[in-house]
Amino acid sequence: MTFTLRNKKRLLALAAAVIMITAAFGVLPASAGIDEVISDGAYQAPLAEEVKVTQPGEQAVKTGARVEMEYKVRPGDTLWRIAAGSGLTVLQLARANNLDNSDIILVGQTLIIPETTTTAAKTDKVPIGDWAWPVTGPITSSFGIRGDRPHEGIDIGAFTGDTVTAPEGGRVVWAAPRGTYGLTVIIDHGNGIRSLYAHCSKLLVHEGQQVNRREPIARVGNTGRSEGPHLHMEILRQGIPLDPLMFLKENLADKA
Ligand SMILES: [Zn+2]
Repeated sequence: MTFTLRNKKRLLALAAAVIMITAAFGVLPASAGIDEVISDGAYQAPLAEEVKVTQPGEQAVKTGARVEMEYKVRPGDTLWRIAAGSGLTVLQLARANNLDNSDIILVGQTLIIPETTTTAAKTDKVPIGDWAWPVTGPITSSFGIRGDRPHEGIDIGAFTGDTVTAPEGGRVVWAAPRGTYGLTVIIDHGNGIRSLYAHCSKLLVHEGQQVNRREPIARVGNTGRSEGPHLHMEILRQGIPLDPLMFLKENLADKA
């Protein structure tokens, strides 16, 4: 496979065009609440280093294997959107998938989302895209740049007291107030992947607890820096925020 200069230029032009369109039309809701992204300084560090180990013999997640996530292309996806949602450049994504004609991706095609932070030889493959929705509601703020700041997750509109459920099984590594995030739950799903739920009104789990898919973990609320009840959800891979919509089931009718 060759990756010609011409292709690179075309990719860069495409990425630039998307950025300009995004800037021009402001695809993110201007009315999005000011919340957690602004000044939670502690949050800048990777979660794996912040979250204390609670039980003897337990380590912060490091599998030692390289983890490749497998994402199935959905209608409306672009390589740029998938790269932006994965913390990758378009070139990194194209190279990982041997795409030499990278402006063509097909719905249903499986793309490897590579991990760039490890050199381990062994590779674990983790399919994504089938997680249950943690709460029922519309996306009121997307992942990405919001105004002039990054929004490192999605906001799901919901009512105070609505039950938040685990989208996948894992171990609770945080269930406590967390600065501007308010009452927060963080679940470690293994393979370096963690999910976070902020602004809750009540926590239903405790640190160290194992939870199953669709098990209640918290109630929606408005704690921390939040304008109105909603669920702020993040997914982090080795501390790098990814677009949760890439993990959740596409069909909203399948919501928990
Ligand atoms: Zn948010």
